[in-house]
Amino acid sequence: METAVKHDVAQVWKDCLMVIRENVTEQSFKTWFEPIIPYKLINKRLIIQVPSQFFYEWLENNYVKILRKALDYAIGKDGQLEYTIIIDSGGQKAQQTQRKPEPAPEEVRKIPRNPFEIKMSREVIFDSQLNKNYRFENYVEGACNRLARAASVAVAQKPSVTAFNPLMIYGEVGLGKTHLVQAIGNYIENQSENNKLVLYVSSEKFTSQFINAIRDNSLQDFMNFYMMVDVLIIDDIQFLAGKEKTQETFFHIFNHLHQSGKQIVMTSDRPPRELSGMEDRLLSRFKWGLTTDIQTPDLETRMAIIQNKLATEKAEMDMEVVEYLANCVDSNVRELEGVVNSLIVDSALLQRKIDIELAKYRIKSLVDESQKAISIDKIIDVVTTHFNIKVSDIKGKTRLREVVLPRQIAMYLTKEFTELSLKTIGYHFGGRDHTTVIHAIQTINDLQNQDRGLMIHIKDIKEKLKK
Ligand code: ADP
Ligand code: MG
Repeated sequence: METAVKHDVAQVWKDCLMVIRENVTEQSFKTWFEPIIPYKLINKRLIIQVPSQFFYEWLENNYVKILRKALDYAIGKDGQLEYTIIIDSGGQKAQQTQRKPEPAPEEVRKIPRNPFEIKMSREVIFDSQLNKNYRFENYVEGACNRLARAASVAVAQKPSVTAFNPLMIYGEVGLGKTHLVQAIGNYIENQSENNKLVLYVSSEKFTSQFINAIRDNSLQDFMNFYMMVDVLIIDDIQFLAGKEKTQETFFHIFNHLHQSGKQIVMTSDRPPRELSGMEDRLLSRFKWGLTTDIQTPDLETRMAIIQNKLATEKAEMDMEVVEYLANCVDSNVRELEGVVNSLIVDSALLQRKIDIELAKYRIKSLVDESQKAISIDKIIDVVTTHFNIKVSDIKGKTRLREVVLPRQIAMYLTKEFTELSLKTIGYHFGGRDHTTVIHAIQTINDLQNQDRGLMIHIKDIKEKLKK
């Protein structure tokens, strides 16, 4: 192609963009090409400025053909492309010019890109962080999880096509939320033909990555990384409560993904309306999709879960034993699995089959153990003694600050040390509503970070509890 030599870098880049725009999706264009700044044009060498090393590698890995095409058009076959990256060396901004295809110098490679710290190579660039054992096939269906499961299957089969976007599943701990949402991810990943990038992350991890990104000055990389996934599964979002900055970033990622037709799946240990400390604008987004819960499984489902577990472990037990266990452990699937696991170990060690005696023995020792564990009565006893107030006050109606704070501390510690549900905790504190309990936990959480005195009180009480 005969092209007159152009001198205007802006014009050349504009020509490139025209070609690029025709060859990539609107979304990719926005994410990967709009942020590029045309820097210099030296003869037939176009130098563009990109925000990060990660960005550069991403372009090189994914868009090299299109870039070539663009150069052919805008400059000619002998057109060359160079990148310049802003790098942060020892606090000082410096510019690093990158002439492709030379490899990046070592110091540039050290810049964190993928917050999961996966080695960046041309082949393996992405890991979904999924646990392959969590599948639909080994997720027992029951009345307690029917809707949540059906919605999850629908989302897995047609991510971002259903009206369930975002899909939000909530329920108390140990009822199978993580299993279910990971099953969605695994299902999608196994449909290799649809080629979707799936990512699972807990809200804790998301938060700590966010904090690291701020510290390392790589927030843009962090955001770009999350914005490129097709299916984002974020677990236990109640953890984001009160973390304003993290929420703000999540909000942007959420919007970006949702607007570009990507699927979002979330879990929480409580319904959205009870997520205090969560921004309204974020909560209102959740209403765009479907919110559904998982309840405690009924007896039949618990029995089916035990049998499912036995089948995976290739172990056996009589129906009578299955029923006995399902009756004894009735509120938490994780505990139920724990009991079955211990019995499998017992039976292997003792070389005897899992019969009703063994099961009774195991359950009894678990109950004994939990009695040794910290009970709500003990917590109330220790807290009231510590603050020199009456048990009747802590359970009573008074709103005096001398009582309210100890009451909140006691609720907070009960949540931490026992498996009791929020409702039950409220019940033990003078029949209070579970939202009061949530509020108490939140208050103590917040106060602890600001108030050293309170922190010391709580530390003292914890030590007394362990005696
Ligand atoms: P949550 O995230 O709600 O706290 P998990 O998903 O971690 O709960 O579940 C706890 C354990 O119980 C996991 O090992 C999971 O595989 C198992 N589990 C929960 N529900 C079911 C179910 N319906 N069928 C089979 N296993 C289940
Ligand atoms: Mg979980």
